[in-house]
Amino acid sequence: MTYCPKCGKSLSDDAVRCDACGAPLYPEPEPEQKPAEVKDALRKWALDQGQFCLIAKALAVIVMAFYLLVSIVYLVTLITGGVSAGMIFTEVLTKLLSGIALGAIIWLLSDAVLYLQRLYQMKKKECKDK
Ligand SMILES: [Zn+2]
Repeated sequence: MTYCPKCGKSLSDDAVRCDACGAPLYPEPEPEQKPAEVKDALRKWALDQGQFCLIAKALAVIVMAFYLLVSIVYLVTLITGGVSAGMIFTEVLTKLLSGIALGAIIWLLSDAVLYLQRLYQMKKKECKDK
């Protein structure tokens, strides 16, 4: 004879679940779905963004990657061109930072658009509810 850990009802030995409250008699194995969870979260995030904001964010990433690439090429060019180290550092850093800034601005703008969209939808819903 076993007893339900939740409601205390006596159950037959081969019972897997309590037939009174439905509680499982043995803890169910935790499904190991971490990668899927991350993927789902990412998909949910992408859906939340909407097409426009997703494209804008992709653009932001592309801009940053492009500037990173340009900075590397520029760095190699300057090194082979025999420019002083201080000059190289300043020039490349300026390029890199402007790229990151540009990407960040696009990203933040798309977030701002998203925020305004939500605000607009909320206001619209409020008007409907009234
Ligand atoms: Zn029970």
